[in-house]
Amino acid sequence: MRAGAPLRHARDCALAAFRTLFSPLIAEAATLRALLPRAEFDLSPAAVASWPGWGGEECPCCGDFTGEGASLTPALCPACTGTKPPFSARSLFPYEGPAGEAIRAIKYGRRTVPAGAMADRLRNDGILGRWAALFPGDFRPVVVPVPILPFKYLRRGFNLPSLLGDALARIAGWRCDLSLLERVSEKEPQAGLHGAERRRNVESAFRTARRRRELPADVVLVDDVFTSGATAVACANALKRGGTRNIVVLTVARAVLSRDRAPENR
Ligand SMILES: [Zn+2]
Repeated sequence: MRAGAPLRHARDCALAAFRTLFSPLIAEAATLRALLPRAEFDLSPAAVASWPGWGGEECPCCGDFTGEGASLTPALCPACTGTKPPFSARSLFPYEGPAGEAIRAIKYGRRTVPAGAMADRLRNDGILGRWAALFPGDFRPVVVPVPILPFKYLRRGFNLPSLLGDALARIAGWRCDLSLLERVSEKEPQAGLHGAERRRNVESAFRTARRRRELPADVVLVDDVFTSGATAVACANALKRGGTRNIVVLTVARAVLSRDRAPENR
């Protein structure tokens, strides 16, 4: 029986090494499996036009979805009551239901992007609708999409915020600058990270293109999903260091963190 002890020890060491090596991969696979969309999900322009938008309260500063009921006098969310973010932000849909499923289908299921239909909703429901106070007639911002790392672009073949930003700029008559912001790092994928981890993960991940001497004063920063705001803050700080004064963040969807939804995406 004594001869078995070294064998058991070797087996335990091998198992421990296996777990150390493959646990992160197994955990990531589980995360991705949970994100996989239904293959038959309808992404036609008519379907996009039918997605129910958020009709509840939103923070007048960061746009956080703060309550289910509509309010005539919206109040700042607890976070903005303390320190206001370096932008105003608005989102059309909760990151659940058809809009959430659509974004997952596009990003993880490689489905065709209905960018024009989504941009139509941003303009008609938001810019010309409930967010009109943020977009006066003489507001001529430059649209800047949140960039992804080059290797992610090569893997996916597209950057959803770029497609959305380009479509939005065309229908709004604004200029779109696809290369003003650059993503230079991402220590870990944002999916699965929480609060402070997300902030640390992206706080120095963006910079403005080195050849740009003068940045636009007004920017509409476009992203697909607003989760903790960490990405938007990192982008806004990079833009403000370069001289941009006013930033409005527009996203298609927003995680309703108060309902304990698992943070996903950037
Ligand atoms: Zn807020």
